[in-house]
Amino acid sequence: MSQHQTATGERPASHLFYQSRMRRPLADRAEGIYIWDEHGRKVIDGSSGAMVVNIGHSNRNVLDAMKRQMDKATFAYRLHFENQPAEDLARRLSGYMPEGLDRVFFVSGGSEAVESCLKLARQWALATDQPERWKVISRFPSYHGSTLGALAVTGYDALKKPFLPMLRDMPHIKAPTAYLDRDNLSMEERGIRYADMLEEKILEEGAESVLAFIMEPIGGASTGALVAPDSYYPRIREICDKHGILLIHDEVMSGAGRTGRYLGGDHWNCRPDIVALSKGLGAGYCPLGAMIAHSRLVKPVLDRGGFAHGYTYAGNPLACAAGLTVLDEIERQDLLGNATRIGALLKAELEGLAERYPFIGDVRGKGLLLAAEFVSDRNTMAPLPKALEAHQRVVDIAYERGLIIYSRRTRGGVEGDHFLVCPPMITTEAQVGEIVTILDATLAQLAGELSLPVGR
Ligand code: PMP
Repeated sequence: MSQHQTATGERPASHLFYQSRMRRPLADRAEGIYIWDEHGRKVIDGSSGAMVVNIGHSNRNVLDAMKRQMDKATFAYRLHFENQPAEDLARRLSGYMPEGLDRVFFVSGGSEAVESCLKLARQWALATDQPERWKVISRFPSYHGSTLGALAVTGYDALKKPFLPMLRDMPHIKAPTAYLDRDNLSMEERGIRYADMLEEKILEEGAESVLAFIMEPIGGASTGALVAPDSYYPRIREICDKHGILLIHDEVMSGAGRTGRYLGGDHWNCRPDIVALSKGLGAGYCPLGAMIAHSRLVKPVLDRGGFAHGYTYAGNPLACAAGLTVLDEIERQDLLGNATRIGALLKAELEGLAERYPFIGDVRGKGLLLAAEFVSDRNTMAPLPKALEAHQRVVDIAYERGLIIYSRRTRGGVEGDHFLVCPPMITTEAQVGEIVTILDATLAQLAGELSLPVGR
């Protein structure tokens, strides 16, 4: 019996604030793409935690760099000192950004990064004498974080509703779920149509009152790795420019290389004004996030006295030393190349599974941000009945078989089950084989349990 358990097998749940469907084991050890629990059982971390551990667990070089930094200083307050790891990481990161995005503001997580984007945008409006601009349009569904500001732009009713009296709900437009549409338009035409919803919303709200538009360039868990048609991205930029509105890319999940480019938006050469990063930036070695903004926005804010915002742990030297070495590892091991190559292989395997399991209606994503969606009918893309709870069951079966995946039951604001397969960027071809073997058995078991159709 572990020291964390009582005689009845229950652990005193002093730091757990939610009901768990199943008893979670203690994580004991992690290496590469695997985690061992307290009983020595090994599972594949097929979701990199929550798409965090992009370079894999227990990377020796990152651990050594952290130890070296620990021996020097683990904390130096940002108002008293600069620190070398933060300076170096800021310089390195701006080299990965679209041109002009060279002002880096460190935080400790994704919600903090998004809050910082919203507050910088607002302070830019004030500093440029546009105080009437405050509305931030976002997409539905979407997830931008759990703090009240990030929640205000999040498109996820269940999470937001209890807090509505405490926050200012922001306008939403529909996420570009072009794959669900049954019309005669081409994908490119649909992309334009979805982007034009932004302009319609801007006009409805009053263009002079709109401050920014925030989106995940490649969707995360709320939409299941949603990729818009190519035409969507430049049209969004055009609309923002036309109305003087800032474009914020939430790259918390899609950034730091997961999709095979450093930023998800790089697949379309996007030019956002502000980017939010976290998750893969510290890659699970330390809490770390960043807001990266165009110097054009930051200058007027600095001229008016500076950014009135900040966190005690911002630019923590230990976290930044970890982040720096994570970047080194991405370069040294060519993990962008590997995410592209292994991602393509895994996607092809998922498409192969979709041929055998007709209840998979769509496989999508880029690099190693991949998802598969369940349907009851591929022609209509109708979802599976909610009562089947397929998204929960698939996760549980996969876990019992030794694979962690991630799932949700939302898509484009309507019901629908999808699961995400997002292993670390160090995953090898042989490990893709291990993942797919477990997924295959998982889907066969799911089909049996829920009486779903199976192909050849
Ligand atoms: N934005 C996106 C796109 C995310 O996926 C997440 C986390 N899932 C967040 C923001 C919030 O990040 P954190 O949980 O680190 O606060």
